[in-house]
Amino acid sequence: MHTGNSIWMDGRLCPAGSVSCSLYAHSLHYGSGCFEGMRFYETALGPAVFRLKEHIARFFHSAKAIHLAIPGSEESLCQAVLDTIRQNGFSQGYIRIIGFFEDGDMELHPTSAAMHTAIFAWPWEPRMGRDAICVKISSYMRTPSQSTIITAKLSGHYANSILARREAKEQGYDEALLLDMYGNIAEGPGANFFGVIDDVLITPPPSQLFAGITRDSILQIAQDSGIPCQIDNIHPSQLSSLDEAFFTGTAMEIISIQSIDAVLMKNRKGPIAIQLQKNYCEIVQGRNPQYQEWLSWCGA
Ligand code: PMP
Repeated sequence: MHTGNSIWMDGRLCPAGSVSCSLYAHSLHYGSGCFEGMRFYETALGPAVFRLKEHIARFFHSAKAIHLAIPGSEESLCQAVLDTIRQNGFSQGYIRIIGFFEDGDMELHPTSAAMHTAIFAWPWEPRMGRDAICVKISSYMRTPSQSTIITAKLSGHYANSILARREAKEQGYDEALLLDMYGNIAEGPGANFFGVIDDVLITPPPSQLFAGITRDSILQIAQDSGIPCQIDNIHPSQLSSLDEAFFTGTAMEIISIQSIDAVLMKNRKGPIAIQLQKNYCEIVQGRNPQYQEWLSWCGA
């Protein structure tokens, strides 16, 4: 992974090689960090981050959930993201921002651990629906919302995702699909689930899943394009009646699901997923003026 020559750390850009982290970092041991993953895309006006303001707002929300004080304002952190991309000279890729407790306190409730915020980027081609994937219903339950703060993107949450992804991969699948505590479909390890029945988009309610920014974008794009949307529980017994299914997420973008366990979707890559992928691609690449407020340009 080539993460570029410059990393932003605690308020300033510095050479990547000069940044290190302690073995005693609280977040390394207990998962007490929070983070965001964003994509930036090549546009006619240079690289632009997709929904930067929403990602940074969610980052502050996550940090607050674990009492991690992020210095500065949301605006200043947005600017730091743009500066990091510009400084590294990447035209399209992925950007990570992480807040974490470092050393000074190994108690579960840290009161004197050092806190840091870091931003780093790497070049990454958009996937843009190149493939369709085979999915396995996980034997791991999606962590119930009653067990955590489900709206926060906390590092510790990802133990659940890692176990589910690994199980699916080891059994020859591309990805996992986790059920919630009621046995309904929740989401993938790092993406939200959508199905299509009779030209109506259906996605589970946010009560037992991490409702992503891409999910929100897709719901809005679908609404603007006249595609009816229904927020409702989906039970695995309904899977055979789906015309198509797909995942949405910053990293995956929109990716069609061709099968779930032994159930083949009626369409390997369905027409609604293809249409949404096309719309999404135009929007993130700055080719649809209606959605320009979703883009933040890095500038010269
Ligand atoms: N669910 C989980 C568990 C995730 O980790 C992610 C990725 N952040 C998503 C859904 C999709 O969120 P977003 O669209 O904001 O990337």
